[in-house]
Amino acid sequence: MAEEVDLFVIGAGSGGVRAARISSGYGARVMVAEEYRVGGTCVIRGCVPKKLLVYASRFADEFEDAAGFGWTVPEPKFDWATLIANKDKEIARLEAAYTANVEKSGAQIVKSRAVIEDKHTVRLLENDRKITARYILIATGGAPNHGASIPGIEHVISSNEAFHLKMLPKRIVIQGGGYIALEFAGIFAGYGSDVTVIYRGDNILRGFDEDVRTHVRSEMEKQGITILTGCTVAKVDRHGEEFTTHLSNGSSVASDQVMFAIGRHPSVANLGLEKAGVAINPKNGGIAVDHFSKSSVDSIYAIGDVTHRFNLTPVAIREGHAFADTVFGGQPTPVDHGNVPTAVFSEPEVGVIGLTEMQARERYQRLDVYKTSFRPMKATLSGRATRSFMKLLVDGASDRVVGCHLVGTDAGELIQIVGVALKMGATKADFDATMALHPTAAEELVTMRTPTARHVRQAAE
Ligand SMILES: Cc1cc2nc3c(=O)[nH]c(=O)nc-3n(C[C@H](O)[C@H](O)[C@H](O)COP(=O)(O)OP(=O)(O)OC[C@H]3O[C@@H](n4cnc5c(N)ncnc54)[C@H](O)[C@@H]3O)c2cc1C
Repeated sequence: MAEEVDLFVIGAGSGGVRAARISSGYGARVMVAEEYRVGGTCVIRGCVPKKLLVYASRFADEFEDAAGFGWTVPEPKFDWATLIANKDKEIARLEAAYTANVEKSGAQIVKSRAVIEDKHTVRLLENDRKITARYILIATGGAPNHGASIPGIEHVISSNEAFHLKMLPKRIVIQGGGYIALEFAGIFAGYGSDVTVIYRGDNILRGFDEDVRTHVRSEMEKQGITILTGCTVAKVDRHGEEFTTHLSNGSSVASDQVMFAIGRHPSVANLGLEKAGVAINPKNGGIAVDHFSKSSVDSIYAIGDVTHRFNLTPVAIREGHAFADTVFGGQPTPVDHGNVPTAVFSEPEVGVIGLTEMQARERYQRLDVYKTSFRPMKATLSGRATRSFMKLLVDGASDRVVGCHLVGTDAGELIQIVGVALKMGATKADFDATMALHPTAAEELVTMRTPTARHVRQAAE
């Protein structure tokens, strides 16, 4: 006879773990299946290991900058193997903590791939066990895309493998212009690797504000990162330990590693969705869900990257929590996906919230733009040729700040707090009324007095 639970969660990543713990807390009998490692993408091969590598890569500039402040630093040496071993130790610690927290909540973890048999049944492939569940939650996340099957694609790594390279590549080619590609470009450049970014569009960071795209690109190029746009990788040849990447524009680049970071797809394949009648969203290939994360089947919900809504850890966690509140807590809770702050941990760092200037110009009759680009104070003595950038977008009618775009040190930290203000509906007058904190970069946000541009949409004739 099949075992029975109230909730079966497929995938112990950011969203699945939160949903399991909270549902368990409401008294539900919960089972969670994980086919790889508890913690999911964010903890095992996403945000957390990425940020550790980012921290490591930034020491190079710190050592260099120290000289201008009177320090003599002996020539620093970097050891990739030490970094990776320490990172792996920390990830293992976090995985154990996640496992313990799930188990402490009363939920049971099973290490197996799980597939859906019907609206209320899940099968564990590890031992062919069948479990019946009142509700099934799909939290299977996403996986890297490799794009078209070009010759030599088998030589190409994704971010998954980049975390486990045996050696630091002296030269690396990275295809992609999104946040993962640029973060790894900054990471490897920080360790002294020669980095070439290949992107098919006309500029990196598609979807971001145009000024941010231009600023980040020029700052990355200043650091010696080569960014080739308007072309793609057509073929990769291997000669022993070396690779030649042939580009669609006829040129080629030699390197020791080739990585693609050209997007991720929701993990919906071979899950048994069709058996249960779970519909896919034709617009994005993820599982189609309503505001409560319910799929086209009443007993099956989906959260996080597998729905391809807003592929960020805090969003998956919030959706997991809201699912538990809705289904087991008796409090129907939709997730508000508006004004989600986001960061790119490239070098320089990016933090954004709200609309881009183009989006805001389309939405508002009158838009005031405040922007500034300045040399950060630290760069005066260090002599580093870098500039920070800030932009506020203000709806001329209501005075509300509808977008904030930051590039520079700690932009991710800053945008989190700006997010609180925007969520509360802060106006430009509120920003102006806030006392500046001197000397900081963030004070620029409350001292930009005169709009650099005002766009007024003409009424249609
Ligand atoms: C390199 C990289 C950097 C990132 N950096 C950031 C960042 O800085 N900030 C941020 O907010 N987000 C970041 N993200 C995105 C973030 O990791 C995801 O949005 C988040 O992990 C999504 O959580 P999830 O619960 O939907 O899925 P996941 O965390 O991906 O978890 C899904 C889990 O399901 C398991 N699984 C899949 N299918 C099955 C099955 N059939 N049976 C059993 N188990 C299964 C998988 O093994 C996985 O453990 C990054 C992602 C990557 C790849």
